[in-house]
Amino acid sequence: MTVNFAADQSLKSYNTLAINVSARYFYNLTEADQLPEVLTFAEEKNLPVLILGGGSNVVLTKDFPGVVIKIAVRGITHHDDKTLLTIAAGENWHGLVIYCLQNNCYGLENLSLIPGTVGAAPIQNIGAYGVEFEQFFVSLTGWDRETKQWRTLKKTDCQFDYRDSIFKNQLKDKFIITEVTLKLSDQPKAVCDYPALKDYLLTSGISEPLPMDVSEAVIAIRQSKLPDPNQLPNVGSFFKNPVIDAEQAELLAEKYRNLVQFPIPNGQVKLAAGWLLEQAGWKGKEYKNEGLFMHDRQSLVMVNKGVAEGMAVIDFATTIQQDIQDRFGVSLEIEPVIY
Ligand code: FAD
Ligand code: NAP
Repeated sequence: MTVNFAADQSLKSYNTLAINVSARYFYNLTEADQLPEVLTFAEEKNLPVLILGGGSNVVLTKDFPGVVIKIAVRGITHHDDKTLLTIAAGENWHGLVIYCLQNNCYGLENLSLIPGTVGAAPIQNIGAYGVEFEQFFVSLTGWDRETKQWRTLKKTDCQFDYRDSIFKNQLKDKFIITEVTLKLSDQPKAVCDYPALKDYLLTSGISEPLPMDVSEAVIAIRQSKLPDPNQLPNVGSFFKNPVIDAEQAELLAEKYRNLVQFPIPNGQVKLAAGWLLEQAGWKGKEYKNEGLFMHDRQSLVMVNKGVAEGMAVIDFATTIQQDIQDRFGVSLEIEPVIY
């Protein structure tokens, strides 16, 4: 087998923030078993490797001096249990959600319209509208770059947490996911406790929603609030919702009567990062004259209206982090992965 690379490939259309950097070598991986050879090429030349799915959760700050591997392996397999599915990492996430609904496999509907690939879903344990990826996760298979072997990881291996997993920490850039196995439900039970979703369904006169109603509602809410990366480049929420101690939350609530806060099971409190940004006046604000804005409908989303450079994105984010720290004593963590 011979693998063919594109040289000096622009990555502008491979990241949804549309940062125009290039990759020294670029490989579109359509078969998982090509992976060892592609990696050997990089190792022999002592080049770094960057894995890309849909590029909807990365900030590319400079030209990549090594090999970018775009995960494009496709395929969905049902096991004997029809709600147990193994999905190739390059499948589109939203495409999977719709496929599941059409094939009477339920559970993923609250995660409708999240951009990106199936293989990236475990990386930050994607979540939305009261549901998280890990709820359906059984196992995943991929290439361990340290042991140079295929490996299957189970749920306890993945250390899933709030928008986090082992793949953003110890295994960052060390494990390449090629397929994911999920267990869904054959019972069409809708999960719609999330306030915005509940309100939307009520307003639409849907009192006993089915999973398809939930999917359609989530799509409609998202389209009304979130900029479409194809029209206005962005990587979704730029900061994670911060989690702070209950005492600190109490002090903040005394100062800011309308503080948006949610107690979480471990006794701490989750704040809405978007609320903090809005209070601090960042909603709709541009950074210098770089064409970078915090979106005017969703303050947590940074949008690139021009030809911003990756480093300007980081400078903007750092300025906001400092401001939020100074005003509220709260530290904001960047959600997308920086390269
Ligand atoms: P990429 O951006 O390509 O990669 C992200 C990271 O994962 C990188 O570090 C990359 O190296 C690594 N990676 C990707 N694929 C693999 C693989 N196969 N093996 C190993 N490592 C890999 N996220 C949410 O959680 N909830 C939301 O509701 C949500 N809404 C969004 C809305 C918008 C408009 C946008 C633009 C983004 C949103 N996101 C959301 C963020 C993003 O869509 C998800 O994190 C998504 O899972 C990223 O997928 P991707 O394929 O684009 O990953
Ligand atoms: P929203 O409904 O305006 O709510 C703001 C924040 O409050 C959300 O981040 C959410 O946290 C939190 N929240 C609201 N109700 C909650 C409840 N009952 N219990 C606990 N937390 C609650 O949020 P939005 O910005 O429009 O986003 C809607 C959903 O899509 C959220 O789940 C959000 O995470 C997800 N989303 C994620 C991204 C991304 O890039 N990561 C982008 C767009 C939307 P959670 O974020 O923990 O849910």
